[in-house]
Amino acid sequence: MLTEKKITNDKIAQYKIQTYTLDNFRKIPQIESMGEEKQFEIEVVGNVFPFKTNNYVIEQLIDWNNIPHDPLFILNFPQKNMLSPTNYQKMKFALDHYDKKEIVATANEIRMQLNPHPAGQLEFNIPKLQNGTKLLGMQHKYKETCLFFPSQSQTCHAYCTFCFRWPQFVGIDELKFATNESNQLIQYLQEHDEITDILFTGGDPMIMNSRILSAYIDTILDADLPNLKSIRIGSKSLSYWPYKFITDRDSEDVLELFRRVTNNDINLAFMAHFNHLTELSPPYVKLAIKKIHDTGAQIRTQSPVLSKINDNSEIWSKMWNLQVQLGCIPYYMFVVRDTGAQQYFGIPLVKAYDIFVNAYKQVSGLARTVRGPSMSATPGKILIDGIVSINKKKFLSLRFLQGRNPDWVQKPFYAEYDEKAMWISDLKPAFSNKFFFEEK
Ligand SMILES: *Cc1c(COP(=O)(O)O)cnc(C)c1O
Ligand code: SF4
Repeated sequence: MLTEKKITNDKIAQYKIQTYTLDNFRKIPQIESMGEEKQFEIEVVGNVFPFKTNNYVIEQLIDWNNIPHDPLFILNFPQKNMLSPTNYQKMKFALDHYDKKEIVATANEIRMQLNPHPAGQLEFNIPKLQNGTKLLGMQHKYKETCLFFPSQSQTCHAYCTFCFRWPQFVGIDELKFATNESNQLIQYLQEHDEITDILFTGGDPMIMNSRILSAYIDTILDADLPNLKSIRIGSKSLSYWPYKFITDRDSEDVLELFRRVTNNDINLAFMAHFNHLTELSPPYVKLAIKKIHDTGAQIRTQSPVLSKINDNSEIWSKMWNLQVQLGCIPYYMFVVRDTGAQQYFGIPLVKAYDIFVNAYKQVSGLARTVRGPSMSATPGKILIDGIVSINKKKFLSLRFLQGRNPDWVQKPFYAEYDEKAMWISDLKPAFSNKFFFEEK
């Protein structure tokens, strides 16, 4: 097992984060040597989707001998085919001919075609206090769990090309999920004793320094809410910046904060986002995982299944096995959402199901805590549960893991078998002209 001693501290103490965006990415040595055409592709697509990477990703995750196919490269650097040929040409033309303002207008026009607000996030899930105040920095969709979007966590250590939160990072969300009102959060939790879990999300909450993060979390702990059982933190920091828990100036304070949560008998669930086995390979990740576990927190893992990045069952079974070995709990496999570059990263539901089942078959029960493939759709989290044959005709068996209406949870329902469907909206109900949850 990996111990702290095996990594020399002086080697990692030097590691300071250096981020790259559209403004300076051409200075990345490996990109400089790629040639102008490839650089321009990144620029074209990076003007529509958010783009940010850092020195850790570049030096330790991406295999530069495997360009353009390297999954970590595709995960972080904008890819030409993320835009349709028409939109690509439109954006390219804008960059060649227009001024800054017109470039942004062109980008926004393209963005609006890409379903920037899937799953009704803006319309349906915004909670209100009893006095009528709307809480724009929160979402409350499923009874037990409330999402909280601190204003200081509206970014990440690097951006994933497939991210469904992309509109938050390019500034087109009129109603930005962001608040720094932890008092409003407390009031809401006091008014809703059905809530057991508060989930910090963003962006990446671990982008916040320990002082800001503790201002939120300590306020929650001090409020001593009897209904609160778990604080969850959704984060990709273990993948994109494990030094947050090892050598950053506030590392010890972050871990101390985690310890305060668990010492208060609140479960701290660190919801780690790992898309590929490579992200679990550097020794620093293993050390960071160990340090988080040492605080009494648990780590659960999740990722969408992504074309060109992890669409094969070997990667998943190996990831789940390694996660279990490292003491992490595999939690969700998601389907790529119906937004942004879904056409590029998405795979058909039946293929996602096949990848899931073939991986699931190869791991022990300890890794079978994972559920999926699951669509986070407007009515709820919908699991593709199986492919069934009835009278020689194939159907997809589906089931709600979470429902906007809690009564829907676990109820099986069926859709016509469809090899191309990539989302619930592509599926046709079987035995009826509507799914049971659709309005009559
Ligand atoms: C996934 C999700 C949650 C958490 O659901 P769990 O099944 O409890 O992990 C909460 N709110 C929203 C909006 C979600 O999409
Ligand atoms: S780390 Fe999470 S929120 Fe940030 S870009 Fe990646 S998927 Fe999106």
